Amino acid sequence: MRTDPLTGLANRRHLDVLERELSQARRSGRPLAALMADIDHFKSINDAYGHAMGDKVLKQVAQILRDACRKEDIVARYGGEEFLVILPDSGAGAAADCGERMRKAVAGASFTGIDRPVTASFGATVLTPADTEDDFLKRADAALYEAKAGGRNRVVVKNAAVAVPANTEQEVEKK
Ligand code: GH3
Ligand code: MG
Ligand code: MG
Repeated sequence: MRTDPLTGLANRRHLDVLERELSQARRSGRPLAALMADIDHFKSINDAYGHAMGDKVLKQVAQILRDACRKEDIVARYGGEEFLVILPDSGAGAAADCGERMRKAVAGASFTGIDRPVTASFGATVLTPADTEDDFLKRADAALYEAKAGGRNRVVVKNAAVAVPANTEQEVEKK
């Protein structure tokens, strides 16, 4: 139930581990990053090579993502051709590095029977104290959206907007 039969990864139902990582990060004050990955133009891969070949690509991409990260990172199949990676003890720099490592590994892999490049786009963000789980994941998703809009086959890191204390502007003006 908790494992996706195609890729062998954790599936969406397994995301109670995310809740655990969130509360652990909050308790310890250690950083936590999320990385969303989505295969580029996957529909056209299915259309050109068939659904069974599409499944093979998905399986191989899952393995590539798994191999590109540390053993403490959690890689889950989040949707059809979308993956979520949770990176404990990782700030924005580490998440960007991991995303870039994954991006390069996918783009550089050869897929038997597919005579075109297969790429994926990545969006990353870091948990802030004010975040709900939903805020955290939505921001990673917004970063992924920017990676798609920016041309795909890229990594975008999106930081939370920093809240400015209410009196900051006035104090600056007084000086
Ligand atoms: P984009 O670069 O914007 O992500 O384009 P895309 O074509 O990857 O995105 P879109 O959401 O249009 O299409 C996703 C496709 O993924 C459509 C769906 O049929 C396919 N898909 C989802 N799950 C599976 C699966 O388990 N196996 C196969 N073969 N295809 C799948
Ligand atoms: Mg896609
Ligand atoms: Mg998608």
